[in-house]
Amino acid sequence: MSAVHEMLFLFLLALTPAILFPLLYERADLLIQQEQNVRKRLSYHVVLAVTCAISMIFSSIFTTKLYGIIPLTYGMVPLFAAMLYEKTVYSLLLAALQLVLYIINEDFRNLSDFLLVTGLLIFPLVLLSKKKFLVMSRRGKSGILALFLLVGSMLSTASPFFLHNESLNNNFSLIFLAYSNTFLMILAGLILIHIIEETLDKRKFQYQLEAVSRKYYREEEKMQQMMDATPLSVALLDRQGSITMLNKTFLKLFREIQPDAVREDLLGHHLLPVLTSLQIHMEQLDPELLRVFEQRSIVSELVQIQDTMLFTSISPIIKGHSDEVIGAVVVVQDITELETLRLELNNVDRLSLVGQMAAGITHEIRNPIAVVRGFLQLMREKSPDSLDHYYRIVLEELDRANSIINDFLSLAQNRPVRKEATSLGDIIHELTPLLWADANLRGQSIEVKLDEHIPKLELNAKEIKQLILNLCRNGMEAMEDKGQLTLETRKVAAGVELLVSDTGPGIPLNKRENLFQPFFTTKAKGTGLGLALCKSIVERHNGKVSVDSEVGVGTTFSILFPYPPQAS
Ligand code: ADP
Ligand code: MG
Repeated sequence: MSAVHEMLFLFLLALTPAILFPLLYERADLLIQQEQNVRKRLSYHVVLAVTCAISMIFSSIFTTKLYGIIPLTYGMVPLFAAMLYEKTVYSLLLAALQLVLYIINEDFRNLSDFLLVTGLLIFPLVLLSKKKFLVMSRRGKSGILALFLLVGSMLSTASPFFLHNESLNNNFSLIFLAYSNTFLMILAGLILIHIIEETLDKRKFQYQLEAVSRKYYREEEKMQQMMDATPLSVALLDRQGSITMLNKTFLKLFREIQPDAVREDLLGHHLLPVLTSLQIHMEQLDPELLRVFEQRSIVSELVQIQDTMLFTSISPIIKGHSDEVIGAVVVVQDITELETLRLELNNVDRLSLVGQMAAGITHEIRNPIAVVRGFLQLMREKSPDSLDHYYRIVLEELDRANSIINDFLSLAQNRPVRKEATSLGDIIHELTPLLWADANLRGQSIEVKLDEHIPKLELNAKEIKQLILNLCRNGMEAMEDKGQLTLETRKVAAGVELLVSDTGPGIPLNKRENLFQPFFTTKAKGTGLGLALCKSIVERHNGKVSVDSEVGVGTTFSILFPYPPQAS
């Protein structure tokens, strides 16, 4: 019976790698990953070699012979398994260990014994089949190891009978034990293969899982950053309507109410109270949320909160290839600016319509005025001189009305004009007598500084005259006696510049931006159409008008007429 005990004990020793290997391999792998903080796969080679070596050493120490005849060579089990799984270096080292252990622990009787009992004879076969072994299925691997163990065990079992002329003497229990021994060795080998494969598979699976989860987190990060980059407020909802994800813009929206809110304050909360706190009251949102989830329809609504206009929409998220709604995405877009723009556009449309109508009406008024003026003139000649004063006032007012109508018409009929190559200097020369007379009446002086080398420009002379007259008249009206008006032309890089400067009171900054708007005037009898007209004239000549003014010093209006493209 003690022989059976010995066999079972050695069987268990041969199986130590089955316990040690999974244990140590996992520990070592985790340790390395924690310490070095690197995602590197630990190769199993060292751990397997060490655990097999331990098993071989113990098997060798405790090895005995059945009935003192048949050697029990359980060391072959971890040895062959390791040789098949290991790199060649480790395989050779373990093979050498096997031989050394034999020499140390068993009396080295002769070479043949050494060859058969250590399994040295089949080492080359084991080494050669390693490459094929590693790519085999688990069943194939089991088969190969079982085969080698069968051969190894049979050779060592048979060795005493070959070499020392021992005989069985019909000792049936010995035969039975010898067979059992071979069977146990093979069984140990199969168990070992099973455990090693399981351990490696498990590790591989864990690595795959880690890789997949890393990828998942990376994708989630990307998705969050993508959402954060959009200018829309976006939030994702789960099936219950709770917020599972939100972007920065959404958080910003919420921070207008709770300035120190963080993402976590919103995550996991139901959408409805969040929207309510944002004062976004989507009518019957509760049933609508249901609609999103049950009928898979997109719900959208314009919501006005004081001056802000929000476009809110909730769309379902549907699980791929099915009809199941797994959540929803909420988008809140601030469309205040768009909305004001739209309203302004409407306004502009209306204004231009009004303008066109006004232009038509004004045209019709001009004719009766002309008739009235003619008859007034006649009546004035036939009336006594004492009434002359009244006639003058009436005629002046009529002329004023007429000039307003003219300016307004020019402004309203913003149509292209005929331009021809004209010298700006010539136009100014023609105007100077008129300007001198005007200035003289007011006790002011005029200086004209013309650059003689200015090329001819594509101008509409009539309009440019009107432009210059308007600017000069404004300058003169702004100045007191002794003021000086300067008219200047000069060449600059981009074109020709016309400057009209005065020494008047200047224009404060807050008024400057309204200067060119129609009907902006600070004068009791002003029309506010002069500069608006100037601007439209300059624009028709593709030019630019700008104002430079210092309060208390004076004002300069500059107009840039750019060179036509081919001349520049
Ligand atoms: P109006 O002359 O009928 O008032 P304009 O469009 O010509 O209309 O001018 C608009 C306003 O711009 C004027 O009322 C005046 O306040 C201001 N302005 C124009 N030119 C000057 C200037 N050279 N100096 C000071 N203010 C000026
Ligand atoms: Mg004016």
